[in-house]
Amino acid sequence: MTLTGQSLVAGQWLGQGEHGEFHAFSPAQNTPLATRFFNIGAVELTAAVNAAQDAFLEYRKTTYAQRADFLDCIATHILALGDNLLEQTQLETNLPFARLQGERMRTVNQLKAFANALRENPESPLGLKLVDEADPTRAPMAKPHTELNYLPLGPVAVFGASNFPYAFSTLGGDTAAALAAGCPVIVKNHTAHPGTGELMARAVLAAIKECAMPLGVFAMVQSKAYDISHQLVAAPQIKAVGFTGSFNVASMLQDTIAKREEPIPFYGELGSINPQIILPNKASKEAKGIAQSLCQSMLMGNGQFCTSPGLWLVPTGCDELETEVADNICRSVSDTLLTPGIVNTFKHQINQRVELADVSLLGKGMLEQDFHANAHVFACSADSYLTTPQLHEEVFGPAALIVRYDSEQQLMMVINQLEGQLTASIHGTDNDLTQAEPIIEALQYKVGRLIKNQMPTGVEVCGSMNHGGPFPSSTDIRSTSVGTNAMLRFMRPICYQA
Ligand code: NAP
Repeated sequence: MTLTGQSLVAGQWLGQGEHGEFHAFSPAQNTPLATRFFNIGAVELTAAVNAAQDAFLEYRKTTYAQRADFLDCIATHILALGDNLLEQTQLETNLPFARLQGERMRTVNQLKAFANALRENPESPLGLKLVDEADPTRAPMAKPHTELNYLPLGPVAVFGASNFPYAFSTLGGDTAAALAAGCPVIVKNHTAHPGTGELMARAVLAAIKECAMPLGVFAMVQSKAYDISHQLVAAPQIKAVGFTGSFNVASMLQDTIAKREEPIPFYGELGSINPQIILPNKASKEAKGIAQSLCQSMLMGNGQFCTSPGLWLVPTGCDELETEVADNICRSVSDTLLTPGIVNTFKHQINQRVELADVSLLGKGMLEQDFHANAHVFACSADSYLTTPQLHEEVFGPAALIVRYDSEQQLMMVINQLEGQLTASIHGTDNDLTQAEPIIEALQYKVGRLIKNQMPTGVEVCGSMNHGGPFPSSTDIRSTSVGTNAMLRFMRPICYQA
């Protein structure tokens, strides 16, 4: 499938290179790819937000059933892209084919889950409508009839992440949730997979035409120039932002949003170190098994998951567990990371850790190519961890830190000092867990998802999922970016009286 390198604005493909161009990158070859992608200009972006505003007036009147058909139709057109989509994404990300097949299916099912939720509750999102009957006899004042329902907010800007080119990108959870809510979407495509974004935009355009939706209901803009991202979130027509990515970029976009005349919600899904707490009996009785599970989970996607377990809290003296970790890590073979920027940051953070006096390198994977990232597991005492803020940062890539605790009291000190996390797991035998109530009680206030005896990687898409967490893992603790509840982010309550 030949790519145009253009942006989709109000049903038109725009961009000829007048605002500069960029190339996608092949992580496998460590070279730029040949296709040119054209930066969108300020005028074209303004056209996209105006078209989204116009489309909103029409799209917000669609029934839930019509929106459900639209979402299903998008899902069908994604599948119709066939292996061309998978091949393009593999070229741009070097993620394994099987992983991409799975993520594509998850993305398609996510669109269908929103469609089903809309059909099941055709009068209000997730059946949340509330009615209070009138009581004209109430004294001293009659009680009015009131109904609480929900309206879409308006056009939504979406920024995807590099590491989930389908599930958290162009047609990922934020886009699906906003369209389900009745909001047009403008996606700032991720420059790590621009061709994937173009193909996805073709799928939406086909669905827009098939379902006779307004052309401005979806736009996809390509740009390597960050002022376009800032122009997008500053545009008065934009009424909310869905963002998946790094803490630093989220802060920059929030600074721009803070200067707007009208404040808008910014839903930033950011990084996390996902602490794994290994309780004493588990650590001694199942040392090998838990060590292997931790290593496997951390190595998934070469450590490029927002749910990757980056901090392992282990009782001091667990030699068998630590030896097994070291063996597993030393046997692991390096792989690519998604972008040269991610490689540079990873290597910089690893070097910083190597230089810390109180931190030892427990195991290091084999480095096959110098542009690859090889796994590293470090270890330090709880005291060192508590006094070294640098160790609390997410390392995006295959790295983890074992923190050895001497007592439950010390473990509690580490837990109490944790920043907000997307997830944490507590691993214990039945005996461990019956005594872990204070740990669990404290931990639940640090996380969005608390897991017992399972690894954090893999986020189920379902109604009861919560993917978000206390700051800085996300910027709005009250909502999820995964699961059908996510559509409520892009709606607001309205009360109809009488
Ligand atoms: P990123 O570098 O923050 O990129 C995210 C988006 O911000 C991209 O669209 C990027 O555009 C844009 N951007 C980058 N620099 C910018 C700037 N100076 N001004 C304005 N926009 C800018 O993040 P990433 O590398 O794609 O993703 C990795 C991070 O995402 C990790 O921290 C990971 O934990 C997190 N993540 C979180 C979740 C979650 O659900 N919580 C899921 C997946 C990933 P360009 O394409 O032009 O660079």
